[in-house]
Amino acid sequence: MSIPLFASRAALEPLLPEIAERQRAVLEGGRYVLGPEVAAFESEFAEFVGTGHCVGLANGTDALEIGLRALGVEPGDEVVVPAFTFFATAEAVVALGATPVFCDVDPETWCMTAATAEPAITDRTRALVPVHIFGNPAPVGELLALAEPRGIRVLEDAAQAHGAELEGRMAGAIGDAAAFSFFPSKNLGGFGDGGALTTNDAEVAERARLLRTRGSVDKRTFTEVGFNSRLDELQAAGLRVLLPHLADWIEARRLAAGGYLDAGLGDLAQVQSETADGRSAWHILAVASEQRDRIASALADADIQARPYYEIPLYRQPALASWAPSAPLPEAERICSGILALPMGAALPEGARAEVVAAIRAALD
Ligand SMILES: *Cc1c(COP(=O)(O)O)cnc(C)c1O
Repeated sequence: MSIPLFASRAALEPLLPEIAERQRAVLEGGRYVLGPEVAAFESEFAEFVGTGHCVGLANGTDALEIGLRALGVEPGDEVVVPAFTFFATAEAVVALGATPVFCDVDPETWCMTAATAEPAITDRTRALVPVHIFGNPAPVGELLALAEPRGIRVLEDAAQAHGAELEGRMAGAIGDAAAFSFFPSKNLGGFGDGGALTTNDAEVAERARLLRTRGSVDKRTFTEVGFNSRLDELQAAGLRVLLPHLADWIEARRLAAGGYLDAGLGDLAQVQSETADGRSAWHILAVASEQRDRIASALADADIQARPYYEIPLYRQPALASWAPSAPLPEAERICSGILALPMGAALPEGARAEVVAAIRAALD
């Protein structure tokens, strides 16, 4: 029996009839863009995250770009992003005409910290984008302490971190704003693309609402060039069925992560450490090992899915190479060269963890 990398489908299956029923009601209602389902999802997700506002958008990449613009980032400004993250984090910065400045990540948590961000800050820095990589919350509090006195804004990239916690609050509630994605593989994944911006700042929320409707409130006067970027009614209807289950699914992921550690995974390879005062949502459980390729081929032989996420520091992607730092960032380089994501998900079969760890142990013997 093969073990999938994203093991969540079985958790979703029993909910599909209810989702189909709610989506059918949307189809019959005839209101497909910015209607009651999006409004209800926005208030339910804001309550889950613990923010005053949530703005539903077309995807997580737009949430990053709209979030940066709503926070006042303009073309030519510098935005500090970690070198170890998904492409979209830097893509959004480039798309708005700002300059991505790459910083290294912490060797244990694999996140941006105040210590790794500070060397990348200049007098042109307007924002930091800490990424809660693999669901592990970056230390937003210390980043705010670094940023606020300098007039720098903090946008959390929470695309992988629905349900992660930091200092007793939800990831996405601490920074000036946070970008979420509801791409199907995420911890809260819809049935197509979707995203949201959460914030406690009413002005930022209002600006994001303006930007998602092409910079117009009345569809007649356009006060700035914005986006056509909305969460669809059909997606919102589906996400509303899933949201009440999210906390249980995160608990299942935490149990699975604990199971991997109990089976001895940490003795065989580096496992990402949780941030102090943080609880990871374990979107991805990855190891970093100098023996990555040996482990990967043994897992493939055992019909266990595993994949390097992300094997190249972003500044070495061809599209981003012109923003490469003057010297390679050593921790991003090390983690990328050894990274391997292992099967994880709310429906990971109980025996799978021990099976995966046994296959890795055998590969290294
Ligand atoms: C998925 C993801 C995004 C982008 O979200 P989309 O909805 O796919 O546009 C941004 N940042 C990170 C870290 C992601 O994992």
